[in-house]
Amino acid sequence: SMRFQAEQKSLVLNVTIPDRRWFVDCDAAKIERVVLNVVGNALKFTPERGRIDVTVEDDPDRARHVRVSVQDSGVGIPPAALSKVTLRYFTVGEQPSGSGLGLAISKEIVDLHGGVLTIQSPPPGHARGTVVRFSLPLSEPPLVLIVSRNAETAAVLREPLAREGYRIAIRRDVETAVTDLMNEDSSMVVLDFTESDALGTGIVTRVKGTKALVNRPLVALTGPGSSEAARKIVRTFAIAELHDRTNESALCKLVADAFLR
Ligand code: ADP
Repeated sequence: SMRFQAEQKSLVLNVTIPDRRWFVDCDAAKIERVVLNVVGNALKFTPERGRIDVTVEDDPDRARHVRVSVQDSGVGIPPAALSKVTLRYFTVGEQPSGSGLGLAISKEIVDLHGGVLTIQSPPPGHARGTVVRFSLPLSEPPLVLIVSRNAETAAVLREPLAREGYRIAIRRDVETAVTDLMNEDSSMVVLDFTESDALGTGIVTRVKGTKALVNRPLVALTGPGSSEAARKIVRTFAIAELHDRTNESALCKLVADAFLR
């Protein structure tokens, strides 16, 4: 949606996100709101044929933080207004502004996540424009439990998830896996239903029957060898399904989506 707005104004919207993952313990919808507000302002306050650069990187000023920067070549913020733009209902006089709530709410959301939001106008080394940055503390990567009695399948599933940076544990019995889930709030299970269904069914029953675990994400690997009982339990609890253990991108997406829910 932002790209479309940029095109309408003939703005260059350049997004630089390295091919790696950062893990942040956050309310994803709220952080999305921050991004929409800040990029929305850059679109609003940058005249035609301007430029907006969005960058995600390790925060060079804070250890173990990820930083999102939104820099525009727009009209800028007058020095006297700079300290006030994060106050509720503040807008700069003659500009076509909105409610004056966007930056105030964005700063509150970032503060509540233990992060920092800063605004510089003009950006250092530039004659005009604005850069809004927010930095969020990194959390320990979530734990993905791979529950399978087939060591080869477990290894195939482990590989792409380990590359994404998740912590991984391979489990072969219900009790150990349930203990791990109880001990780690940020954890989930990838269940192998391709051979025997006792292990997978056991886990699903325990997770769905335990109040503290009922919302814990589950992903099921199913295949031609999956029993009718396995298929039924996967359907009944609407568990996200992976049909091919070698489909790395599907696996990574299912796991990432599971944590975002
Ligand atoms: P609004 O809904 O008015 O955009 P915000 O809280 O998001 O409210 O912003 C407050 C004011 O800060 C805006 O009205 C505008 O004057 C100024 N501002 C915010 N972002 C920018 C920007 N990227 N460039 C210039 N001015 C900005």
